[in-house]
Amino acid sequence: MSSYDYDLFVIGGGSGGVRAARVAASLGKKVAIAEEYRYGGTCVIRGCVPKKLFVYASQYHEHFEDAAGYGWSVGETSFDWKKLIAAKDGEIARLEAIYKKGLSGANAEILETRAELVDAHTVRLVKTGETVTARTILIATGGRPNPHASLPGHELCISSNEAFHLEELPKSIVIAGGGYIAVEFANIFHGLGVETTLIYRGAEILSRFDHDLRRGLHEAMVAKGIRILCHDMLQKVSKNGDDLSVETLNNGTLRAGVVLLALGRMPNTEGLGLQAAGVKTDERGAIVVDEYSRTTAANIFALGDVTDRVQLTPVAIHEAMCFIQTEYKNNPTKPDHDTIATAVFSQPEIGTVGLTEEDAGKRYAELEVYRAQFRPLKATLSGRSEKMLMKLIVDAASRKVVGAHILGHDAGEMAQILGVTLKAGCTKDDFDRTMAVHPTAAEELVTMYAPSYRVRDGVRI
Ligand code: NDP
Repeated sequence: MSSYDYDLFVIGGGSGGVRAARVAASLGKKVAIAEEYRYGGTCVIRGCVPKKLFVYASQYHEHFEDAAGYGWSVGETSFDWKKLIAAKDGEIARLEAIYKKGLSGANAEILETRAELVDAHTVRLVKTGETVTARTILIATGGRPNPHASLPGHELCISSNEAFHLEELPKSIVIAGGGYIAVEFANIFHGLGVETTLIYRGAEILSRFDHDLRRGLHEAMVAKGIRILCHDMLQKVSKNGDDLSVETLNNGTLRAGVVLLALGRMPNTEGLGLQAAGVKTDERGAIVVDEYSRTTAANIFALGDVTDRVQLTPVAIHEAMCFIQTEYKNNPTKPDHDTIATAVFSQPEIGTVGLTEEDAGKRYAELEVYRAQFRPLKATLSGRSEKMLMKLIVDAASRKVVGAHILGHDAGEMAQILGVTLKAGCTKDDFDRTMAVHPTAAEELVTMYAPSYRVRDGVRI
């Protein structure tokens, strides 16, 4: 008989925490999970899922325009923001209920409270003040938007959290940042008819992506009517009647209904009692873990965004499954963070896996780069000028495809499949002997027979 109240106590009901709690409970462990806000975490409640619903909503105006080329006359259209929010909230509530049902179905105890560590085996439930003990504790508290507190007027700005619950759709918005969230929301708001300005401090948006995708997306966004100001930063935000004044470093003062800060996310570790439990954090506040997601306290694990390894939902879920193997299946398993396919739900979309041309150029002596840019078939009759871009980066010596990058419709869907091929170590010859699926855009990936150019010692030749 265990001397602890629980075999496992999970703090945080997001993707990683819920998965670990549910699977551990289904293995017969006595499990409790505590969540201070809503089950589902960032991804389900105010991240990936509602964002994708907003992306769909924002694409309709282009669908209506495109329809004419195919013979359709679309009557007058209008958009109702409140209706979208209500529909989205309904879907999120449905998903949250599914998460909870999965937990209770596995016999995990669901606690709706903040939980803080008292020591390495004791957790305090903030709602009741009660303390409980657990043999193993898992911290999966995720992250939160960086409030950018050094910016004068930051309290007047919103983060992605509030973007999901705006009372009214603003007439204009200024978005600060050049990462996933900034770029995705710039396209969403523009698509919904909001005058949109993106301000990014660097030379080009999406700093960690292949340069062709960054440039191609930038051009496509500008062509749609999104204003992008690179090499610039917000200096001050202040009230200006019903609007906000936004002082920038290089572009004077802008006026906007809403200012959205999308300047990265921070680990949720404040006030968690980590020190008392012997759990170390790094300079950013992220929990330090070993290769098995074990913290500096032997019985406490941490996974997902709170560890600031790779901030992606599927990664947190994978880390949770590795934790289960390590802790409950006598099979120590390290999460595999290599070659992770990802998508940016911009418009056009980005789907990517493996190395950028720049990074591959540093790692391999010679590269073959296969690159195709074309107008997709659908755009012929619709008359839309948007181009699709596909790019394969191949290590010339081994012939292995080490990077695959797509800009255009369904790029995220294609990245998922390309992820399998790169993970399996497929060579360019494997791609070449794969029959095309015709007529698709993706067939381009297996019909680029000659390299567009080579890169030797990092230099294009
Ligand atoms: P990102 O890390 O993607 O981007 C942060 C942006 O803020 C970068 O452009 C960065 O610039 C800029 N920035 C950071 N600090 C400052 C500063 N002090 N002043 C000015 N600019 C600054 O973070 P996001 O917030 O967009 O997203 C957080 C994470 O969530 C992502 O990393 C991603 O892992 C995940 N996510 C994934 C999505 C998906 O899978 N589709 C969607 C949304 C989020 P610089 O590049 O120069 O450093």
